[in-house]
Parts: sequence; C-alpha cells; structure tokens
Amino acid sequence: MSLESISSLPEMVDIWQQTLNWQPTNEQQNQLQKLYELVIEANRNINLTRITEPAEFWEKHLWDSLVGVAPKQHFLDLLNHGASVIDIGTGAGFPGLPISIIFPKSQVTLLDSTRKKINFIDSTISNLYLTNAQTIVGRVEEIGQESKHRERYDLAVIRAVGSVSACAEYTLPLVKKGGLAVIYRGSFTKEEQQNLENAVNILGGKIELIDNFTTPLSNSIRHCLYLRKVKHTPVSFPRPVGIPTQKPL
Ligand code: SAM
Repeated sequence: MSLESISSLPEMVDIWQQTLNWQPTNEQQNQLQKLYELVIEANRNINLTRITEPAEFWEKHLWDSLVGVAPKQHFLDLLNHGASVIDIGTGAGFPGLPISIIFPKSQVTLLDSTRKKINFIDSTISNLYLTNAQTIVGRVEEIGQESKHRERYDLAVIRAVGSVSACAEYTLPLVKKGGLAVIYRGSFTKEEQQNLENAVNILGGKIELIDNFTTPLSNSIRHCLYLRKVKHTPVSFPRPVGIPTQKPL
C-alpha cells in the first residue's frame, strides 16, 4: 500500500466542536492525516494497532486521545502554557502524539518499553516536525525511580497499560506535587474503584474526578480517572519491574 492509496480521515468538525468545544486548524488537520498515514504504513511491518479504518481511527485514537484533556479548562491552561506531559506505554503514540500536535506549547515525553515502537515514534516526530515531543525507551518502573524523571511532570497520561492500580503506580511517582495523572479506561467497575482508592492513598494521591461518557460514533463506554498528587510518593514506589502487575496494590 502506498501513502497515496490511504484514505482521508473524516474531518468531523461539528463533533469536535460539540464534544470538545474546539476544532483543529487546517495545519493540525493535515498533521493528524499525516499521522494516520504514517501509522497505517508502518503497521505493515510492526504491530502498532488493529484500528485502521479512517472513522474508527478518528474516534478510537484521535478523539479518544484528546477527550481526556481537551474539554477541561484546567488542562487547556496548563497545556497552552508549557506543561510537561509524560505518556506512559504510548505504543504507536496515543494519547501523546495527538496531545503534542494539538498543544504545541506543551512538552510531551513518550515512553514505551518496546524499541520498535519508539523508533516509529521518533520517525513520526521528525516527519511531522514536532519540536515539543521526545521519546524514551524503558520500563516505567525504572524511569519512575530516576531523579531526572521522578516528580518532574505536570501531567502523566496512560491508556491501555494494565490494571487501574498498576496505572496509578506507574503514573503518580512521575507527577509533581499538585500535578495530575489521567488514566484512560473503557469500563470501570466498583471493585476497580476500591483498588484504585487503596493504591492512590499509598502513592500520595487522591481521586479528583471520575468522568464517564460515551464515544461519539460507536457509543462505546469510556472513563477518565483524574488523580491529583497531594503528597510525595514513598521512595519504594514504583516497585521493581513486573511487581506492579504481579502484586497489584
Ligand atoms: N497507549 C497506547 C494506546 O492506547 O494505543 C498503547 C497501548 S499498548 C496496549 C501498551 C503499551 O505499553 C505497549 O506498547 C507496551 O510496550 C507498553 N508497556 C507495557 N508495560 C510497560 C512498562 N512497564 N513500561 C513501559 N512501557 C510499557
């Protein structure tokens, strides 16, 4: 498949406006289209995503990446004024790359343990001329213990990287006191909420908001869990590689 044969993404101007009270500029629309083409092209060689149809890609990768941050005035202020963001387990770059495209004043770090995925993101960053995005290959359990990264970010985002308590243990150590972690989920049960409350307490956070809504095209269930960092995280967290998933808090 050549780039020429890849379809155009739908523009969805009205839906952006109704749901996020915002629309991409022409330049941003072109960058989102280019991102789509690069993902589809690279997906022939590395397993980046199962979501390849234009409308589905628009909803499940682009809209979904931005809905966790864009409708909230607090985030708009932060992201438009140079906030530092880390996307943990970014995969093909979601939600971090759309955030970097739409908020050029933010500084976005994209972390993944898989070298091939980070290679793809590095080439995408250069193809899209993104000057506010950088990558790290590594395990978050180790990165979260490095002073260069620990408690250095205004915002940590995480989507599709394990249980809610593992996500809390991956994100909160990297967030500055006063900053926020956003965990993107599909469904979210009462039992998960209890696990999350327990983990967040141990990690120096509090649950600020649990937002639930449906996606605009397929009406799929979504939850965004907003965790505020209120105290320093004890030095023993995150625990060594693999422990947060094997022995969830
Ligand atoms: N966030 C992306 C999304 O929603 O499309 C990708 C989700 S993918 C299911 C999970 C990603 O997390 C994989 O790319 C994997 O390599 C990465 N990952 C899993 N555990 C990790 C860890 N401990 N540290 C860093 N990356 C991790």
